Amino acid sequence: MGFSHQKQPTARNKRLRKADGGNRMSSKRALAIGAHPDDMEEFCGGTLLLLKKKGYETLIAVLTAGECGTIELPAEEIVTIRANEAKRAAKKIGAKYTCLNIRDGCVCYDLKTAKKLVKLIREYRPQIIFTHPTVDYMTDHTHTGKLVLWAVPESTHPNFPADTKAAALAKAPFVYHTDPQGLLSPEGQIVKVNTVIDITDVIKQKLRAIAAHKSQQTFMSLKSKKPIQYKEEIRRIAMIRGQQVHFEYAEGFTQQLLEHYPRHNILVDILQEKAITL
Ligand SMILES: [Zn+2]
Repeated sequence: MGFSHQKQPTARNKRLRKADGGNRMSSKRALAIGAHPDDMEEFCGGTLLLLKKKGYETLIAVLTAGECGTIELPAEEIVTIRANEAKRAAKKIGAKYTCLNIRDGCVCYDLKTAKKLVKLIREYRPQIIFTHPTVDYMTDHTHTGKLVLWAVPESTHPNFPADTKAAALAKAPFVYHTDPQGLLSPEGQIVKVNTVIDITDVIKQKLRAIAAHKSQQTFMSLKSKKPIQYKEEIRRIAMIRGQQVHFEYAEGFTQQLLEHYPRHNILVDILQEKAITL
């Protein structure tokens, strides 16, 4: 996929890996795993921009090519359009982009897909992973969030089979679930999060990345039969999340604190006053 940080192990690498307990994930890399081509810019684009400023390498990996993001074009056509938009958007936030090419609407919570994510994680070796929450409006999103929780522990188990020669990670990366679409829980309330990031300094850049997904502006307006200002919608959501902690614009996250996940909030270490733990 062009981003692997661990090629076939050489004798020297094997010695090095042994020396650091197999842990080559301490480098500054953040991986955002989304279901669709525009998801991660929308939910964590500002935070990725801030991490980039702190010297992090960032990769946006999407599971699907976004075939369902149209009501007027055939699948092959929209896939090409969305791939170009996604690459442009990723560039605007200084991230690399890759797609696992699963059909849109068909992200399954199954072993085959979990293995793909283990491969991705073992090869990219991120220190931090962002992904969807496990409750959201769309199954592609919730399955992606759950698949990351399947793949992360298995990325650390050398005997879990994945189609890669990259070694197992020595420990789990930090995992942050983004806000759900529209910030809403199934009860219609704004969801609770445990981490809020001040993205005021980078909101314009984030919105420029969102604007790169031109086809989605058209799609949303056609689907709702009224003009939808996609960029404005994203700005409004960032403002609502910001109000909670007196930031102008913010992104909310739930750090995964289940057993075996690192428990301190590394975003506070890196982003200092721009990160709030609730
Ligand atoms: Zn999506």
